[in-house]
Amino acid sequence: MTRRIHRLREVMTERDLPAMLITRPQNVGYLTGFTGSTAALVVTAAEAVFITDARYVEQARAECAPLPVVPTQTGHTYGEKIAEVAHGMGITTLGLESDYLTLRDFDKLREELEGIALRPEAELVSGLRVVKDAGEIERIRRACALVDATFEHILTLVHPGVRERDLAIEIECFMKKRGAEREGFDTIVASGVRAALPHGRASNKPIEAGDLVIFDFGATLNSYSSDLTRTMVVGQASERQRDIYAIVREAQAAAIAAIRPGVEAKQVDATARDLIAARGYGEQFGHGLGHSLGREVHDGPGLSPRSEFKLEAGMVFTVEPGIYIQGWGGVRIEDDVVVTKHGCDVLTTSPRELLELSP
Ligand code: ZN
Ligand code: ZN
Repeated sequence: MTRRIHRLREVMTERDLPAMLITRPQNVGYLTGFTGSTAALVVTAAEAVFITDARYVEQARAECAPLPVVPTQTGHTYGEKIAEVAHGMGITTLGLESDYLTLRDFDKLREELEGIALRPEAELVSGLRVVKDAGEIERIRRACALVDATFEHILTLVHPGVRERDLAIEIECFMKKRGAEREGFDTIVASGVRAALPHGRASNKPIEAGDLVIFDFGATLNSYSSDLTRTMVVGQASERQRDIYAIVREAQAAAIAAIRPGVEAKQVDATARDLIAARGYGEQFGHGLGHSLGREVHDGPGLSPRSEFKLEAGMVFTVEPGIYIQGWGGVRIEDDVVVTKHGCDVLTTSPRELLELSP
């Protein structure tokens, strides 16, 4: 973790920032290994001090060694302890995470940190998190293996009459029994006409013969997330279901083939989008092609028409084109990929051909 704090210091130097306060839990965790939910980290060129409250002091000493851990005082706020530590470190200008703190937090800190100039700083640590190191990629890989195993399991439980919600509960239970801290986001099981909802949270609707069913779920394992979508047919696919599935699959394959370092993110999005539009379904693909993935399910800039960056090795994205037709249903296929030196590795391996559930 010391290496990550070292990289943070490099960016602070570039920004001419002598000290930085980090409180966003995902950023604190990234820099220190801390897995609790509340802490503050004060970093200068020479020092780094970890502040947490009584609930987490022991845990922090174990997880964040050799960083010094300073406990807050009972009955006092984090801000008061941060002020004491910052004054002790001789800090006169302190950067704050403007993309995380609320205006109210800011006002309060301004009172508590009297005498210290506060400087709003955006995307400082999250910028570092965009490119994953080997250890992070390994964790994402394991989270991906878990969703693959979960999908294989859930296929054995799909039959006409089972409710979407019961399948979602089974998905979450299966992942947690195998080590997931939590599901990455609200599990989506959307069948029949509900499959036209790109974010159709599992409902009480029973799955019926002939339905297209979209499963979209993720696991957070060792602080890193995966995200998988598969669409299947309950019974034999109709011609239209088959056609639309084939378009989405082709679009996804084309986008994955376009991924390599140096390519514009929006170009990858366009590869899938243009193909879907050429088949007449451009209006039915209403979301970005994918998002970045890491400690958060939306972990930074993603693949969309508005993206303004180039891909670099070590970035991790989902690739999830879809076609959604109101009153009919929808198809989405989503896999997780890591950009490599010459292309990308697909981390999720569940079958991509159209699955037809025989009765
Ligand atoms: Zn997803
Ligand atoms: Zn996703």
